[in-house]
Amino acid sequence: MDADSLKSLGTLLFWGLLFFLMMRFGCGAHMMGGHGHGRHGGHGGSGGEKDPVCGMDVDPGKAVGASVHAGKTYYFCSTSCRDQFEQDPRKHLAAAAQGDQPHGGHHHG
Ligand SMILES: [Zn+2]
Repeated sequence: MDADSLKSLGTLLFWGLLFFLMMRFGCGAHMMGGHGHGRHGGHGGSGGEKDPVCGMDVDPGKAVGASVHAGKTYYFCSTSCRDQFEQDPRKHLAAAAQGDQPHGGHHHG
């Protein structure tokens, strides 16, 4: 074995070790580990907006419809939700403000 092949073997080992370390501890570890960082979030999401009509979480980037009411932009999962909102924004905002209560027919005053 001459010096040249020793050198290339060393280089190979070096890169192999580097690759191993990267896979083990570096960015490769994400790919190897089963836990992806997919954002399949449940509740308490990341900055999403709530559709005030149906209560769905809406990603503003993907929202089908948006409507500005009283200086705030509301996002909707569908144009029909937006239409309903625009017909009577305050009704839906009041319902949304009440939180998790089911849609009831009762109203006070
Ligand atoms: Zn909706």
